[in-house]
Amino acid sequence: MILLNPGPVNLTSGVRQALAGPDICHREPEFTALQDAIRQRLLEVYGLPAAQWAAVLLAGSGTAAVEAMLSSLVPQQGRLLIVNNGVYGKRMARMAAIHDINHHTLNYDWLQAPDLAEVERTLVQEPGISHLAVVHHETTTGRLNDLASLGALCRARGVRLLVDAVSSFGAEELDFANWDISACAATANKCLHGAPGISFVLVRRDQLTTGAKRTLYLDLATYCEEQDNHSTPFTQPVQLFYALDTALAELDHQGGWPRRRKQYQELAHLVREGLTALGIKPVLPEEETSAVLSAYYLPKNIPYEYLHEELKTRGYVIYAGQGRLSSSLFRISTMGAITRRDIEDFLIACREIVSK
Ligand SMILES: *Cc1c(COP(=O)(O)O)cnc(C)c1O
Repeated sequence: MILLNPGPVNLTSGVRQALAGPDICHREPEFTALQDAIRQRLLEVYGLPAAQWAAVLLAGSGTAAVEAMLSSLVPQQGRLLIVNNGVYGKRMARMAAIHDINHHTLNYDWLQAPDLAEVERTLVQEPGISHLAVVHHETTTGRLNDLASLGALCRARGVRLLVDAVSSFGAEELDFANWDISACAATANKCLHGAPGISFVLVRRDQLTTGAKRTLYLDLATYCEEQDNHSTPFTQPVQLFYALDTALAELDHQGGWPRRRKQYQELAHLVREGLTALGIKPVLPEEETSAVLSAYYLPKNIPYEYLHEELKTRGYVIYAGQGRLSSSLFRISTMGAITRRDIEDFLIACREIVSK
């Protein structure tokens, strides 16, 4: 089955084989050596210095990492501004409410980019904002939010920038220094091509001392301290660690995130041209869209369920729109171990279905 959903992705044979590695105990040195290696590799994806930055590994999906980041890093007296233009921005606002984090949310239409002038006004007018949270790649629509501009606004006011990079880490640019990023949350099983079940937060070490204790299991400071001491507070999914280690080695070997972005972009472009030729229109222009995923309007007389079923019987899984967009659009991701040939065959299948 070719997975064109935004994770979990098709695994390479190397990553799949890694899952069958030897049984080890998470309290033994062979596990912590693996953990140390993965933490270092994660910092190296964007060249972050280990003196200032930590990679903190968690058992759980991407949502666990985002929730750990928000609940652990916004101080008890802090105030969080959430920039929401999709499902995952909205999810961050729910997390803030559940953890009783003092917050303010700017809501934008899911098809729109955040209004930077309004974000700036809010940072000036709303009292005491210490942190801003935003989704880098809003997987709801494929939009890449403008982190460079948001980072500049944060820097000018001494506000800390927290990023949900779950669907961009490993395949989009993340300029941690120039965009003034304080922390970002991501996962093993999207652009990094690992297996689902581990996620992580890359965090500036100075941020770990100023945060709050709102959760036991998702407390980043606890994880970081134990992982720095070559230990782990709780049982980790060791087989998934093998897989992530191999996936990171493969990413590095293949030329890192710039090369992966280029691969995704080439495949995404092929999809865009192919579907456009069938009269299926993209929702956003190519220059506002990530390399990772694009959203398309469903053809007038073809409901999503039909398109999905017809494609699935031919070996392709596509992804529905979310929320109010579920009846009008569908999404295609080009992440994972898929090839140009896979996409060409997928487009042939689409042509068959559309012309039926
Ligand atoms: C996939 C995704 C998540 C988290 O999803 P999980 O199902 O918990 O892995 C969070 N944010 C974004 C932007 C995503 O694409």
